[in-house]
Amino acid sequence: MNRERVLSGMQASGKLHLGNLVGALKNWVDLQDKYDCFYFVADWHALTTGYANPASIKENTNDLLINFIAAGLNPDKSTIFIQSMVPQHAELHLLLSMITPIGWLERVPTYKEKQEQLKDRDLSTYGFLGYPVLQTADIIIYRAKFVPVGIDQFPHLEISREIARRFNYLYKEVFPEPEGLLTEFPKVLGLDGRKMSKSYDNAIYLSDSPEIVEQKIRTMMTDPARKRRTDKGEPELSPVYHLHKIFSSKEELDEIAHGCKTAGIGCIDCKKILIKNVFAYMEPIWKKRNELISNPDSVLEIAQKGSEKAGKVAEETMKLVRDAMGLPC
Ligand code: SF4
Repeated sequence: MNRERVLSGMQASGKLHLGNLVGALKNWVDLQDKYDCFYFVADWHALTTGYANPASIKENTNDLLINFIAAGLNPDKSTIFIQSMVPQHAELHLLLSMITPIGWLERVPTYKEKQEQLKDRDLSTYGFLGYPVLQTADIIIYRAKFVPVGIDQFPHLEISREIARRFNYLYKEVFPEPEGLLTEFPKVLGLDGRKMSKSYDNAIYLSDSPEIVEQKIRTMMTDPARKRRTDKGEPELSPVYHLHKIFSSKEELDEIAHGCKTAGIGCIDCKKILIKNVFAYMEPIWKKRNELISNPDSVLEIAQKGSEKAGKVAEETMKLVRDAMGLPC
């Protein structure tokens, strides 16, 4: 049976944290039983903002691959590959850049936002502006039907749809317009109560040792109104409770909410339950991570095989593209 194709990638620009895991990555794992999934590490994308300091990209790429597999992506079910190992992405990016109006790129909301956020870097580069074109090439080169997206990523997908449409209009119907597979990711709060994020330095990373995870949870923010053990709290104001919602059972959650509101449970004991449950969730992932770290050849082999398979599909598309544009095939 021909399954519909799903495409998604993650940028190799840093370590993965629990928010990435329970949001995007676990969703990818679920999708691989239903769709023909292509998942990749976007190492070229990491250069769009990190071109001046590329030393960590290789290590981040490897760590992402390890996390993909440790979290449950199965190379027998999904095609797992590295963007730069499929050079057809670059060729399609070049050709799409010929037909993409600059105004479209300047209007992408994250273009200005990211420049504001990363003021210490010079992002007035051609590569940074063209990021959505490369992203479009990544998606449509596999003629993917779906891209899993959160609601805030829709504008990015919209520009990919527009570029695909423009190509089809100018030359020949080669690309299906990719559709968003809307996913409600649980919002994971970080140690300080803001959204868990690398840039806020409030994250629990998959690469953190159990000792570090325990220490991070022990010192994490609680309801600020609970200064003493006898103070009653409001669980919804505590980031600890938000993590309980993800990692603890319904019964535990009810007990904690009641205990917090009545001062029946102290924050230390509440955090101990969370530590136990996060450990239970993470232990198989840590175990698999350690196995893969001690066998780097197996990771490389998965990436090579996946990239070879992805390359074949990409080349089939490029033949259609070159033909449509009147270039030698
Ligand atoms: Fe947060 Fe738990 Fe303390 Fe309530 S008891 S404030 S949920 S850590």
